[in-house]
Amino acid sequence: MSLLELEDVSASYGYAPVLHGISFGLEANRAEGILGANGAGKTTTLRAISGMVPATGRIRFDGVDILGKSPDRIARMGIAHVPEGRGTLGGLSVRDNLRIGAYQRKDRKQIDEHIEFCLDLFPNLRERISSNASALSGGEQQMLAVARAFMAQPRVILLDEASLGLAPSTAQRVYDAIRRLQTETGVAMVVVEQNASLAFSVVDHALVLETGRVSIEGPKESLMGMDEVRRAYLGG
Ligand code: ATP
Repeated sequence: MSLLELEDVSASYGYAPVLHGISFGLEANRAEGILGANGAGKTTTLRAISGMVPATGRIRFDGVDILGKSPDRIARMGIAHVPEGRGTLGGLSVRDNLRIGAYQRKDRKQIDEHIEFCLDLFPNLRERISSNASALSGGEQQMLAVARAFMAQPRVILLDEASLGLAPSTAQRVYDAIRRLQTETGVAMVVVEQNASLAFSVVDHALVLETGRVSIEGPKESLMGMDEVRRAYLGG
């Protein structure tokens, strides 16, 4: 049984259908990529999982039906969503953002250890630990958003377009740290990316969405070998 399983999931905004029956599974300790052009439905897929858009079909997390549950309930069950645009709390320091990520936890000592782990993973954040999040660069805010999600100790992290608006070298550094986070902690991830080579640096399996349907899926090696994937998502 997959840790997270979507079966025939459809979603719409008002009367505008966006997802048309998508299915996939995510195993524990693994990372699944979702590739696709602008507007293909990648963000909507993550929102359907975290309860932010109404959907039909079936979504199971650890064997429990989560479709229809509130976003707060789904987050508390262990699914952390790092939205496009990051969503860090600008008026608070880096340290307070990380603490707020752990707000449901009571294990003070382990929280401090996990903050240290995040600061090792993202050394930029250590340098800016007392700065307001709003004063951070785009890359640093993205690092903080990922670290804050990890502080909740989720079993799944949903990562939406972490490279958006970042210079290529910064995006690469963010993804290098995400890969380390995934491999060192084993947290499962769904990685939404338009930049397939960044996604492939983290995931072992991926699917391509085209206008709300899964058009291709498979192990990353087989996707990387496909002409249509290379042309559309790997820059030739
Ligand atoms: P992008 O990379 O541009 O975010 P995406 O693959 O993540 O693309 P979605 O954001 O899921 O795509 O959007 C899918 C479709 O749903 C698009 O046609 C978009 O215009 C539409 N859409 C997204 N959000 C809303 C909304 N809040 N209300 C109405 N339509 C929306």
